[in-house]
Amino acid sequence: MIPVNEPLLDGNEKKYLAECIDTGWISSEGPFVRRFEEEFAVTVGRRHAIAVANGSLALDAAVAALGLQPGDEVLLPSFTIISCAAAIVRAGAVPVAVDADPLTWNIDTALIKSHITARSKAIMAVHIYGLPCDMNPILALADAHGLRVIEDAAEMHGQTYFGRPCGSFGDISTFSFYPNKHITTGEGGMIVTDSDALAEKCRSLRNLCFIPERRFVHEELGWNMRMTNLQAALGVAQLERLETFIQRKRSMGALYTELLDGTPGLQLPLAQAEYAKNIYWVYGIVIEDSLGLDAVEAMRRLGAAGVGTRPFFWPMNKQPVLNRMGLLKGVDCPVAERIARQGFYIPSGLALTETQIKTVAQKVRELIR
Ligand SMILES: *Cc1c(COP(=O)(O)O)cnc(C)c1O
Repeated sequence: MIPVNEPLLDGNEKKYLAECIDTGWISSEGPFVRRFEEEFAVTVGRRHAIAVANGSLALDAAVAALGLQPGDEVLLPSFTIISCAAAIVRAGAVPVAVDADPLTWNIDTALIKSHITARSKAIMAVHIYGLPCDMNPILALADAHGLRVIEDAAEMHGQTYFGRPCGSFGDISTFSFYPNKHITTGEGGMIVTDSDALAEKCRSLRNLCFIPERRFVHEELGWNMRMTNLQAALGVAQLERLETFIQRKRSMGALYTELLDGTPGLQLPLAQAEYAKNIYWVYGIVIEDSLGLDAVEAMRRLGAAGVGTRPFFWPMNKQPVLNRMGLLKGVDCPVAERIARQGFYIPSGLALTETQIKTVAQKVRELIR
């Protein structure tokens, strides 16, 4: 079986982990945490970085830090992971889903304006799969309507938008270091911001909102979302190789495209947009309805042929848990719904070999025939 993802851990990971064990620093108090935060902040071009336990919690803290009120609305793409909507709902706010662009699979920026109301307070911009979402129109709308911007850059380490790093846009941005992301700490996440106040708030939320004056007395409820020194040690080692990883992802994506281009009925990821070259976090494909095949059946057949796959995200407006809460009920996002039904991604991990890529492409072409 060709796995859908396998990370590369062949740099200084072992050395730095051994350092943690040799020195006894394994908790969040260890020195790699601070070092990872500082180096990550520099990479992204932000003043502050706050390391947390995973990317979902990074979103929880980032949204909570904005201090939204019950009933405040936050716009987000329908085509994303549940973590985005969950963070909004847990903050007491209301998610408002916007449909996807059929080519980039990101939020369709032309549709955002019609979703803005008097209760809108923020836009969550999420970069999906390999191309950033089109930030300039999003920032302009946010500016015009006084909205905060949260940028979910979980899939975009090392990517840029018109040359500026993803993770440096808006009020606050988040990352994930799950093993299928460009750099991994096993589980892990990061919040980055230029705002001293938001950074301080997130640090407090990360650590149970302890107050300095009297430990164990709390004015607010936080979480324990601290990252351990062991995770941060992996992060520092992985960050050293970010450039190499990105180049590798780009050449893997280019090879897939070369091998799959022209296959009838298959939509491949765009190689580039006006503002960025694809980074191919995952190599997604969408099967045209006319082939009479949906993603579930395609993934079943590829699995039988020894190729690991994962389905695309499922639209937020079709999430049972949200609909039962009366959220996004009856909302239509036809593009997100179609690509969710017809789309999936093929093996895209950093450890994938050229031979494996050729085999996968061959199996995909056979599937379509
Ligand atoms: C992976 C991912 C997350 C969640 O990160 P975890 O570390 O798995 O919790 C959030 N948003 C996006 C866009 C992601 O791809």
